[in-house]
Amino acid sequence: MTQVMGAVDWAAMLAIIGAMDEEIELLLAELREREDLTRPGVTLHRGVLDGVPVLLTRGGIGKVNAAMTTTHLLTAGATRVIFTGVAGGVQPGLRVGDIVVSTDLVQHDVDVTALGYEPGTVPGEPPAWPADERLRALALAAAGEVKGVRVLEGRVASGDQFVASREGAQRLHDLFGAACAEMEGAAVAQVCAKAGVPFVVIRSVSDTADHDAQVDYRSFMPLVARHAKQVVRGMLARLTAGA
Ligand code: SAH
Repeated sequence: MTQVMGAVDWAAMLAIIGAMDEEIELLLAELREREDLTRPGVTLHRGVLDGVPVLLTRGGIGKVNAAMTTTHLLTAGATRVIFTGVAGGVQPGLRVGDIVVSTDLVQHDVDVTALGYEPGTVPGEPPAWPADERLRALALAAAGEVKGVRVLEGRVASGDQFVASREGAQRLHDLFGAACAEMEGAAVAQVCAKAGVPFVVIRSVSDTADHDAQVDYRSFMPLVARHAKQVVRGMLARLTAGA
């Protein structure tokens, strides 16, 4: 993860994915030595961010986009993956702006229960995908520096649904023990786990996944997306310091 004699060593890159422009644009503005790599369905931005060789990309919304993008990132040489974005808080007490660092991830919309599988279990796959311990620790330390927000570790539940009802949020908390709901993280996790590549998902709460979710999401998403960006930069600072 170092620059060798002025030339960037692209052999080991940290990938940073967001689903939407708002989740990566602030980081993209800081990317040095930028080169755009066009791949089927997505553009990867390769460059140096705060001294660290990275691949930065907006992967699009939902699990299919997230899986496709992650596959391209790994093929392009990513050796660690961070997802940064916003989510609906489903753990009681979570407030807009709070930050969730993933312990593990589940796909809450998978249902093969008719064949005897637990809700959320993809046949042939584990029931949840654990995030990397070291990246989690880095994310927690960096998130702790964001002023005025609370930080917690918790399970992230992903599905191809915008969760916007009290019952929906309650179900994710009761059935899966989820802290927050979003639409990409577990797909990134599944692809990374298959490839043996460490990952972590960092989500700022944009809404509480209940009946006010649409309104809150639209009001707060751009604001809280900045928190997640601060966490990523705090992680990069720790990586360059050798943490
Ligand atoms: N901004 C787009 C739609 C985004 S969909 C538009 O307005 O057209 C919501 C995005 O935010 C997804 O990337 C998802 O990961 C995250 N998200 C935030 N709150 C969520 C919630 N309550 N349920 C599911 N995903 C949520």
